[in-house]
Amino acid sequence: MKILVINAGSSSLKYQLIDMETEGVLAKGGCERIGIPGSVLKAKGNGKEKVFERDMPNHKVAIELVLEALHDDEIGVIKSMSEIAAVGHRIVASGEYFTKTTLVTPEVQKTLEEKTFELAPLHNPAAATVLRACMEVMPGTPMTLVFDSSFHSTMPEKAYLYGIDYDDYKAYGVRKYGAHGTSHKFVSQEAAKFLGKKPEELKIVTCHLGNGSSITAVDGGKCVDTSMGFTPLAGVLMGTRSGDIDASAVEFLARKKGMSHAEIVTYLNKKCGVAGISGVSSDFRDLIAGMEQGNERCKLALDMFNYQTKRFVGAYAAVMGGLDCIVFTAGIGENTPFVRQGVCEGLEFLGVKLDLAKNAERGDGIRDISAEGSRVKVLVIPTNEELVIARETAELL
Ligand code: AMP
Repeated sequence: MKILVINAGSSSLKYQLIDMETEGVLAKGGCERIGIPGSVLKAKGNGKEKVFERDMPNHKVAIELVLEALHDDEIGVIKSMSEIAAVGHRIVASGEYFTKTTLVTPEVQKTLEEKTFELAPLHNPAAATVLRACMEVMPGTPMTLVFDSSFHSTMPEKAYLYGIDYDDYKAYGVRKYGAHGTSHKFVSQEAAKFLGKKPEELKIVTCHLGNGSSITAVDGGKCVDTSMGFTPLAGVLMGTRSGDIDASAVEFLARKKGMSHAEIVTYLNKKCGVAGISGVSSDFRDLIAGMEQGNERCKLALDMFNYQTKRFVGAYAAVMGGLDCIVFTAGIGENTPFVRQGVCEGLEFLGVKLDLAKNAERGDGIRDISAEGSRVKVLVIPTNEELVIARETAELL
């Protein structure tokens, strides 16, 4: 069975065609600059790469081009559309409307479009547009919605509620939903497999550290708390996002800077985080290089990131009443020894002991970077959100 996985952004569309028998990727690629001059599809298949420089005024044209690439003479991997058993769509926000992977029906589509857009104004409308386009060009092919927040739906009320008027929570759905759920789910399951244990036996803190970062407490295979909130602005400071900040400071800043509500939220999402602190970059490679050249603010940004991540690890060990494993994943988690060391330093009292040489090594696949005798295992696990989406879609079928 072949499953097409679609991950749509406001001006981008990434895809993978996955063979579920082997869980191997048959073809993959991404459209960039959709709706902007200079749009391009970079596609891989048959071990080759091809660039399609084509005008893509909207997501429908983009998905048509993706299907063309899948049928292409050189890089194509299918002969007919009927080979695609289903399409799994990544959806960022579900609110309380969806708690698990859902087969698309007219009713489901209506809820997605009418209820969830304001929860993720950049991502959900783009995903819904792509869903519509797919349904038009692939009529009869089952479609699923796989939500970033589903894995977090097991959080207890005491973890996901904010201290606001309960009636307002009920009326408006303002609560913590979390994000990166497919990644947290995947790496926590991979960690259990790697350790030869059942997920039910383990207390794991998963650190998805990328341009957006979130930390999750996974107790017995289920999410019990996570650092992102109502939106992905919450938790640790990130590339350009502030992370947690006193709501009164937001109002104060907006007044001082003469910004509207919308402007201050954009500022907190786009101008803050490690980019704002360092004044140099949101990219951790630049920050490490800056620190190595003696830039104090790059060092400060990195120290803040490590400190805040560690704070969540400690808090979540307390929440779960123990800790068996810390997992690092995503761009920074998989590639930045300085961050992994900074997060683990000082956690010896919890039984965490890092092997500094193993931590400094590069490598593929799952790596155990804990020192011999470390009670808590520290693992680096490459994330694979597309595979989770494909697995969930196949399961639902
Ligand atoms: P992601 O959002 O998971 O794609 O992660 C993106 C971030 O990971 C980038 O902004 C970089 O800061 C970081 N990153 C990616 N690759 C590396 C690397 N080789 N070394 C250090 N940081 C990296």
